[in-house]
Amino acid sequence: SLTLGIVGLPNVGKSTLFNALTRNDVLAANYPFATIEPNVGVVELPDSRLARLAEIHSSERILPATVSFVDIAGIVKGASEGEGMGNQFLANIREAEAICQVVRVFADDDVVHVDGRVDPVSDIEVIETELILADMQTIEKALPRLEKDSRKDKGLVEVVAAVQEAQKILNEGKTLFSQKDKLDFAKLRELHLMTTKPFLYVFNADESVLTDPERIAKLKELVAPADAVFLDAKVESELLELDAEDAQELLDSIGQDEPGLHSLARAGFHTLGLQTYLTAGPKESRAWTIHKGDTAPKAAGVIHTDFEKGFIKAEIVSFADLDAAGSMAAAKAAGKVRMEGKDYVMADGDVVEFRFNV
Ligand code: GDP
Repeated sequence: SLTLGIVGLPNVGKSTLFNALTRNDVLAANYPFATIEPNVGVVELPDSRLARLAEIHSSERILPATVSFVDIAGIVKGASEGEGMGNQFLANIREAEAICQVVRVFADDDVVHVDGRVDPVSDIEVIETELILADMQTIEKALPRLEKDSRKDKGLVEVVAAVQEAQKILNEGKTLFSQKDKLDFAKLRELHLMTTKPFLYVFNADESVLTDPERIAKLKELVAPADAVFLDAKVESELLELDAEDAQELLDSIGQDEPGLHSLARAGFHTLGLQTYLTAGPKESRAWTIHKGDTAPKAAGVIHTDFEKGFIKAEIVSFADLDAAGSMAAAKAAGKVRMEGKDYVMADGDVVEFRFNV
């Protein structure tokens, strides 16, 4: 499954954010190491096109795409030295295909910072170092066996070379993802190395930061080219309790035009390299999740494996054209509906009907 793992130092607001993600009412205690139970929170990817599709097709319901986040407890300074890096932690990290780091930039004297001060630059470094150290350990453990096995199994020779290259990069203090052009990630897959995953940063901020474009630009620059999301985790939880009008008022008061969870969902989707295509009919208007670059048969397979196996062609209209035409019949009359074959690479916003053999 495609999930992002939430990591971060204690007391940065992980549980608070996670509560908002799951809408569960887990206690967010003002206490380091409070995050214990890992779990998964699923958020919808906001997509205003679906409402329009549902209108055009008189759909009974709308089904947006979703993004999942798994709460990964256990990364703290020194985590790679044992404490906190339990099996559960490793299992959760493995499940995640990207890493979402929550970074504290809110100031609140009532909330203890683990290092005694709010310092996003140093916090990011601490977490990154822990992840790099953990990967180095994984490699140190795995490499002797891989080397030994590669003497009998020649297929492993290239794996050993890739692992050694990864080790060199980690020794230089760099994440593997940052050097992905030099590495064959497929050969490293078995090791589930954490720094091969793309990172996404969530800056847990207060109003003073959220309304300060210069500060935001600086923090964005700090983590670029990774995505950065700015939100107030406490406000995100509060928003869920409010009706639409009050929620908008609260957002206005901190200078935001939409809930931070919306931008988080979009950034998560982007970091995972995902995109959507759309289907619409009287039953439902729906967004389906695929990887960027997926072909039409691959996309069909997301609905049903039989659709991929028996793929004949895809009838496609772009959302913009369908929206402008106002109906499928009008879009067809205007020559906007195309037939695409098995080599077609899906574009974002394609509205699709698949033709297939069963
Ligand atoms: P975790 O250890 O990273 O999971 O952090 P928590 O979510 O438990 O948050 C630690 C403390 O910080 C709790 O008392 C939260 O209420 C508080 N907190 C979390 N987010 C914010 C925020 O955006 N602003 C402020 N002022 N406090 C926050």
